[in-house]
This record gives sequence, C-alpha cells and structure tokens, in this order.
Amino acid sequence: MASLVLRNALLIDPEAGTEESGALLIERGRIRASLGPEEPPPGDAEWIDLEGHAVAPGFIDLHYHGAFIFEPPESIRASLTGSGASLLRHGTTAYLPTTVAWPSDALGKRVTELCGCIDAAREDGAAAIGMHLEGPWIRPEAAGAQPPGGIRPYLADEGRELLDRSEGLVKMVTLAPEIPGAGELQDELARRGVVAALGHSLSDARVIAEGIDAGLRHVTHLFNAMGPPHHRDLGVAGMALTEDRLSCDLICDGVHVHPAFVRLAARAKRERLMLISDRMEPGAAQSGSFGAGEVRDDGDALRLPDGTLAGSNLSLDRAIRNAVSFGAMTRAEAVAACTARPARLLGIEGERGTLRPGARADLVVLSAAGEVLETWLAGRRVHAAR
Ligand SMILES: [Zn+2]
Repeated sequence: MASLVLRNALLIDPEAGTEESGALLIERGRIRASLGPEEPPPGDAEWIDLEGHAVAPGFIDLHYHGAFIFEPPESIRASLTGSGASLLRHGTTAYLPTTVAWPSDALGKRVTELCGCIDAAREDGAAAIGMHLEGPWIRPEAAGAQPPGGIRPYLADEGRELLDRSEGLVKMVTLAPEIPGAGELQDELARRGVVAALGHSLSDARVIAEGIDAGLRHVTHLFNAMGPPHHRDLGVAGMALTEDRLSCDLICDGVHVHPAFVRLAARAKRERLMLISDRMEPGAAQSGSFGAGEVRDDGDALRLPDGTLAGSNLSLDRAIRNAVSFGAMTRAEAVAACTARPARLLGIEGERGTLRPGARADLVVLSAAGEVLETWLAGRRVHAAR
C-alpha cells in the first residue's frame, strides 16, 4: 500500500507536550514519521490536507463501564460493539471495559464473556484492549455506587481462578489495600504484571505506603470514593496527591471533582495525572441497574436514588476541553492525560497513545475548539463529523 501523508496539520505530541505545524507520514496502518512543515513527503505518497487542524493520538480510556454493566452476560458482545462505534465519535480508539463488584458467579461469567470481546485489532470501532476490574476487593464503607452485595475480602483461590480465567486480559485492578487478603492480591497482581490501582478505599498512609512497596502504583478516580483530603491525616487523597510513585486518574466532568481541585491535582501530579470517563450508559430510558439500585442520568452525572454519584456521562474529548477551560492543563497536557500517560501506565506506549514511529496510526483530528472532526484507526478514517 502506498504511503499516506496528513499534511498542513497541527501535530499534538503528547510526549513532548507540544503543538507544532507539520505532517504525519503513515504506512501500512502505522506512523512512519512526523515531518516538519517544509519537509517533502515521499513522491509517491497520497496526501490529505488537514487545513491546519490539530492531530493527536487516539484517546485511551482506562475506565469505561458503558452499557455492558447493565446487561446480562450474553448481551455483552452486542453492547461493546455498539459502544466501540459511539466511542469513535468522541475520539476514543482504545479502552478498558470496566467491571463492577458483582458477586463471584456473576463476575466470573462476565469476565469470561469479556475475554471473547477483547480485540486490539478491531477495525470498525474503538478497541477493547483489556479489562479493568473495579472491585470486588474494595472497602464497603467506600463503595460509592458499587453493588454492596458483591464487595468482599480477597480470597486467594477465588482471585487466582478469576485472573486465570481472564487469560492475561485483566490489565488493571482497583482495590483497597486495607481489606483482608489485599497483601496477597497485590503480590498476585505484581506477579502477573497487572496494574494495581488504589481506589474505593479509606486506608491510612502507612498501609498505602506498604501497598506501594508491594506494587501499588496508580489511584482510581482521585477524590471520589476515598473520603475527603485532610491536612493532618494524609489518607488516600493525601497520599495520592503527595506520593510521587503513584499516578492518578480523575473524572474531569466538573461534577465528580470541583474544577479548582482538578487544578490542584494537575499541579501536584503533573505528568502523572490522567483523565478517565467512568462513563455509564443505562440506555434510552436514562436509568438502569447493575446491582446497586437504579442509577439515573440527571444530565450532569449518573446517580443512585439517594443522590450518591455513580458514573459519569462524560466523553474524553469533553474531559480534555474541561481540563483546559478549568485552567488545569494546556491542550497538549490534557491530550497527554488521555493518550501517552495511560499508554505508559499499561506499557503500550510504543503501540498506542503516541506519535512515535511504529505506533498504530490511531488518530483524532480536533477543531480549534477541541471538537472531534475525524477519528482514524490504523491509518484509515473511520469517523468524520464534517
Ligand atoms: Zn467506575
């Protein structure tokens, strides 16, 4: 196949933190090179003029519930097919379908079903590139909207069986390091190379520090489901903000975290802060249940009947626009928080989330206002808004 040049583009390089005029040379679905504005592309290359619009790597969502959590296991495949197509419209090209704290049997069935849906090479939708288990090994008192009946201590037999069943496709587990069995769980995750993330926890600093020594390296939805920050008692939020060995992610919808706290987190964590959606799609009725009671989308976010915040209705393109308008990040930094940073956490930055030569040409074309104009998968335009 001939090479393709996207020229007259503004290249957002999330690793360099820059936006520079230039062109992107693509060959066989992969980025071959970034070219300066005056650099001539190969003579036989096809080219497309991007009219000065910005190009970034496709977004990676570490935490996406979508519609599948509201569905029985047998409907997961159809649900993810639909999600994959809608995610493209918002620039997300790869994501981790994220489970909730279902009881053992229900969780096992869904993990099995999800295994059959992980398809990193998907061509017609955002790719589910692995799973994120959010719970069940979390603190009941920090459940948030997690189904209380499924939250449980870690038992090695159950845990190993579940992780074996996932065939290496569990990439991330959100856990509370203070619950019974958490030490064993962290050892198991470290052995398997799974990202151990602190979340839905009320742990004290000492237990978190021990967890970090055992491999804990990330924090799930900073400020949510972890108790408030306290200046004399670090707790989860305090450790998350001040401990350089922990990266964090955050729901940047302006509802789950106040914009001023997004600014604070961005200053404290810098290149260790990532943006997630934690998106839930209960369907046309705008409400549904995944075991914790009926959640409803009130337009701002999803909530349980008692007002407890559940997931968001956020998309990552909006998260990026918010992070910029909140004054928390430059656009290149906000793009990095949805691309190179999560890719590095997952160890896939040579493949996704960067403009490195050799990486997949999964790309997003953005307007000056940050709206998604086009999405590309493996060097092919799969969504165009104009
Ligand atoms: Zn979640």
